Amino acid sequence: MSPLRDREASLDHAQDVDLDVLVVGGGITGVGVALDAVTRGYRVALVERDDLASGTSSKSSKLVHGGVRYLANADLAMVAEGVRERDRMRRNAPHLVRPLGFVLPVDTVADQVKIKAGMSLYDVLSAGRAVRPHAHLDAAEVQAVAPGLVRGAGRGGYRYYDSQTDDARLTLAIAQAARVHGADIVTHAEVVALRDMGGRVTGATVRDRLTGAEFEVTARWVVSATGVWAGDLWGMAAGGADLEVVPAKGTHVTLPRHLVPVERAVVVPSGQDDGRMNFVIPWGEQTYIGTTDDPYDGAMGADALEDADAAYLLGSVNLAFGLSLTTADCIGAWSGLRPLLRGKAAGASTKDLSRKHTVIEQPAGLVAITGGKLTTWRQMAEDVVDHLAEADGNRAPCLTPELSLGATGTAEAGVARTRAAFAAAGADVAGAGSLYHRHGDDAPALIADFADRGEAEVLVPGLPYLVGEVRHAVEHEFARSLDDVLQRRLRVSLRDAAAGGDAIGRAATIMGGVLGWDADQQAAEVDAYLGNVRRERGPVAIRA
Ligand code: FAD
Repeated sequence: MSPLRDREASLDHAQDVDLDVLVVGGGITGVGVALDAVTRGYRVALVERDDLASGTSSKSSKLVHGGVRYLANADLAMVAEGVRERDRMRRNAPHLVRPLGFVLPVDTVADQVKIKAGMSLYDVLSAGRAVRPHAHLDAAEVQAVAPGLVRGAGRGGYRYYDSQTDDARLTLAIAQAARVHGADIVTHAEVVALRDMGGRVTGATVRDRLTGAEFEVTARWVVSATGVWAGDLWGMAAGGADLEVVPAKGTHVTLPRHLVPVERAVVVPSGQDDGRMNFVIPWGEQTYIGTTDDPYDGAMGADALEDADAAYLLGSVNLAFGLSLTTADCIGAWSGLRPLLRGKAAGASTKDLSRKHTVIEQPAGLVAITGGKLTTWRQMAEDVVDHLAEADGNRAPCLTPELSLGATGTAEAGVARTRAAFAAAGADVAGAGSLYHRHGDDAPALIADFADRGEAEVLVPGLPYLVGEVRHAVEHEFARSLDDVLQRRLRVSLRDAAAGGDAIGRAATIMGGVLGWDADQQAAEVDAYLGNVRRERGPVAIRA
């Protein structure tokens, strides 16, 4: 089935059947709800206004973690939940959720005592599931993994483990699993109105943003997983919850790895008197730094790196490593919004609610899930579907704790299988690990297919992505725009100073061949992509 027909078929199906659950929003929360609901026997469709993960779910720090810093607030239940989910994901998606060592430098005896206690507690909360327990590193050992660190490690540091992921591809993997189990997933389709019968929400009007057509969807439940846009859905319903989403903006910048050649993620102080810490995180041949955390009052989705954000992040790394980096050294940047929730009348502090998730049914039939973390998507989805199942008397068990998200066995075995397939296809085996970590068990068959079609070479020099992945993204990964491919299926825009350079036009031509774009449409796609990257990068220029 061609990708266009696949989308049309899903659109038709969503209109033709009476759904049990219509999920609004294709971030990690929405796709998680779709997966949990469909595997408990519900008829499910998900509509996403833009692309999967185009909201906050592609803009995170890309960590799957318990959150060591929440220990400072003694929020042990939340840390334990994060650690439990991290370990489930390492089993269910070993290709996408990979162990990452962290180093927390220490300078004073008092810090050492405090951090040692926190590290021990983190191990306890991991209940023996930690990759490795924490360990003290002396100053030389810290230098070995964080070369050039000049501040804050007078007494060495502590090493501990969490996990790193590709947030957009994790969201995609969950959406693909939901589709395999029978959910209709339709991107570039927006809920523009809610249907109401006798005070209960019973469906929605959906606009297909590729054609402009509108259609009605009937559903017993509408789940709003719309992140910072939750207020829009409440605004569409008579009697929607009297809550508002107060976003907080977080930014990151990317540098070539050789400028800050860390072997582990390093936790460094912000250098300001706000007491915050930043992460300096290795990512292949790049290193990224994040994150800021500031109130945001601009238009939702129009957030971008600003001069002050760049100065804050670069100031932090410059101080810790004795460098003089400027935005001219940066090769990428991104910005995302955390959805914090506040009662409209109360004006109460959002600090506490912000990191926890909340399920609210108001009015009847409209169930909203807000807050939480990338890490806790599965638990959030379980809580939503438990809410529906309890009302429905549905006793089907939640299957997601053990459900594979595209890779079985260990990552080591998966990489070995993929290397063998690369060798058999005559492709450069150096790319095998990376392809496996994006595509899991599909990677060996993909490289054989790419090699057959002459698409096994690298798309952008210096990045691991292969030419065949562009076509594959359209045919099998819901991608519809050049932006979908170069920003989220492949993270070209975040990792290349030129945002892809010559490969941008090549990718547009490949996509045009599948989707029937003429030369004007291809040029418009290139302009739209570059416009988005330029806006999001702010002071970080696109340059060859
Ligand atoms: P979103 O991803 O924003 O998805 C909402 C979706 O709804 C959007 O795609 C939007 O287009 C769609 N939508 C809205 N309105 C409509 C409509 N009317 N019709 C159809 N679709 C609609 N968590 C971690 O665990 N680890 C981290 O390292 C981490 N780092 C972070 C760093 C930053 C800077 C930020 C901001 C957050 C971070 N988080 C992290 C938190 C995590 O990223 C978010 O909790 C998570 O991505 C939120 O996902 P979501 O699906 O709820 O929202």
